[in-house]
Amino acid sequence: MSEIASTTLHGDVAVVTIDSPPVNTMTREVRAALKTSFEALRGKPEIKAVVLACAGRTFLSGGDMREFDTGVQEPGYHEVLRLIEDSAVPVVAALHGTAMGGGVETALACHYRIALDGTRLGLPEITLGIIPGAGGTQRMPRLIGLEPALDMMLSGKPLTAQQAKEVGLVDEVVTGDLPERAIAYARDLVAQGKGPRRTRERKVAGAERAEEIVAARRALAAKTMRNRNSPNVLLDAVLASITRPFDEGIAYERSLSIEVEKAVEGRAFRHLFFGERELRKIPGIGADVKGRKVERVGIVGAGTMGGGIAMCFANAGIPVTLVDTTQANVDRGLATIRKNYERSVSRGSLKAEQMTQRLALITGSLSFADLAQADLVVEAVFENLALKKEIFTKLDAVAKPGAVLGTNTSTLDIDEIAAVTRRPQDVIGLHFFSPANVMQLLEIVQARHTAPDALITALDMAKTIKKVGVVAKVCYGFIGNRMMDPYGREAERCVMEGATPEQVDSALEGFGMAMGILAVYDMAGIDIGYLTRKERAHLLPKDPSFYRPTALLTERGWLGQKSGRGYYRYDGADRKRTPDPEAIAMFQQEAARLGIPQRKPSTEEIRERCLYAMINEGARILEEGVALRASDIDIVYTSGYGFPRYRGGPMFYADTVGLQVIVDKIKEFGKTLDPQYWQLSPLLEKLAREGRSFAQWQADPAR
Ligand code: NAD
Repeated sequence: MSEIASTTLHGDVAVVTIDSPPVNTMTREVRAALKTSFEALRGKPEIKAVVLACAGRTFLSGGDMREFDTGVQEPGYHEVLRLIEDSAVPVVAALHGTAMGGGVETALACHYRIALDGTRLGLPEITLGIIPGAGGTQRMPRLIGLEPALDMMLSGKPLTAQQAKEVGLVDEVVTGDLPERAIAYARDLVAQGKGPRRTRERKVAGAERAEEIVAARRALAAKTMRNRNSPNVLLDAVLASITRPFDEGIAYERSLSIEVEKAVEGRAFRHLFFGERELRKIPGIGADVKGRKVERVGIVGAGTMGGGIAMCFANAGIPVTLVDTTQANVDRGLATIRKNYERSVSRGSLKAEQMTQRLALITGSLSFADLAQADLVVEAVFENLALKKEIFTKLDAVAKPGAVLGTNTSTLDIDEIAAVTRRPQDVIGLHFFSPANVMQLLEIVQARHTAPDALITALDMAKTIKKVGVVAKVCYGFIGNRMMDPYGREAERCVMEGATPEQVDSALEGFGMAMGILAVYDMAGIDIGYLTRKERAHLLPKDPSFYRPTALLTERGWLGQKSGRGYYRYDGADRKRTPDPEAIAMFQQEAARLGIPQRKPSTEEIRERCLYAMINEGARILEEGVALRASDIDIVYTSGYGFPRYRGGPMFYADTVGLQVIVDKIKEFGKTLDPQYWQLSPLLEKLAREGRSFAQWQADPAR
């Protein structure tokens, strides 16, 4: 018997226990252990029932992601699950923890299922661009009916044990000692003379309406999961549970499953999944470097960002002191926080007592002295270098030794801010995104003197407040906003060349961006970019068309949604964007005045110009070491900038297009458009020449 599986006898009930820490992933070894265990139980007349359970914190948690790229090793899922389902005596799955994917599919192959209260069960494959491939698409509809099975598989969301009981996925929800309850359940089955109950032999409830149901789901998926193929493939596979015999359905599921695993969409999701695991690996910082403890947090500035950041910590149970200059400012900040929580309560996503607890964790103050106990202080005052220097001088005077001092600046030089303190090793950039309590991304900016353990503290803190922390180095715009710059520049230039805002945004949204960039400007406030560019004018190109549409709108006072019009009008009852002929005419007149040729760029050209300009800048960021890895850039873009996850982020997308294709296009743009904007990144050019990808470069940068 292997060490992973053990079988114990309890009268005539055998209990097979899998123990493969940390989460009983269905690795090849676990499958082999299951196979050996169930083979050994065959032909033992004294055994009347079997319980399959797991030690540790969860039932089989899911498949082994590493096998997606290597292929599934023997014994495969089907062989093992078939063996379990074929058992001549009833097999009871005893579920606890989080059973996902392959774990749930194994439970489906058992004949009965009981779950400890608190268990969660899901088939999340669609969220990774793939489909259940161990019989889930064939057994789940047979067990719980077509529509509940589709709900589960198309959303990827897990069910609670109670919900699973309601749909018939589990037979009983129990509390107390799970193995004991499972043994008792198995004994009852034996006493009642109940034998195996094979899922594969059942008929699918809802089969008579299958065509109609599946067609409706296809139509919905086309809208809500635009550009994605895996939902369609999933529906094909599920339909086979009705139109084909079980064995054929399984074979079909398998062929489809392999197809989606190899497709770009599946690879893109896996790239991001594995990329997130790399985020904590920082060159020069070993695993022995531990973060400092963060038990109390201070925030300076109770405005838009400060309030949102305070909520992030309160949500994690960490007490926060929020400092601003006047009581009115503090009160306004606290009132906004309360309003945000109240909205969550009225929506049902937060309980009233949780709101009370969280609000109680946030204390307003007018005094920096109240920050003396904070382990971490986040500064979120106006974007002004002199002011931030003043704040950091004050913080240096009051903060306790070892406190991490973070700034939420978007554009200022953090090294300069750190230099006013006597402890630059404790100063770091913490670039939250708006709204800070909602947005997942946190850029963690490692300044010149930031200490390794201060950086690790920030990474730990990001995890505590459920953010994706990505490390960047100091430069203008860090990773995200710096790459947005050329992207937005091309979008605006396309407008000057005769594309309407709607054409530009539709091209980008059709590609999969959550929102077109011009609509984003309208949402954020047109003047924001305008004002920062005005401050940096001496550093920017002397090109009269550079970000000209935004300048025109700002000068007219058409500042976007907040003024009811910007690139679009927002004055309908639903406040949805509608084209604005006046704005379009204004852009056209300006183009004529500046003598800009009207190319009327096509959808394809708009996409290529915006995305390839962004990718080229991404390559520069890699060259300069501002981002540590191509996958870090991809995570920034998919978690903070609405880049479609199913395309894997800009750098992964570039690899799928082919770097040579992109280089050729950039060279062409250098001839047909303004050459100053189409200077190739040496890294991009080199990789294309060598026939390598960003992924290959990431794996072996020195080559
Ligand atoms: P805001 O104007 O909403 O809030 C700034 C707050 O700081 C105000 O409440 C103000 O009273 C307070 N303040 C000013 N001087 C102070 C002082 N001496 N002591 C204490 N409090 C003081 O600004 P915001 O949008 O929250 O931006 C704050 C910072 O976050 C800026 O550096 C900005 O660049 C950055 N940021 C903003 C966004 C965004 O989308 N709003 C996104 C990322 C980063």
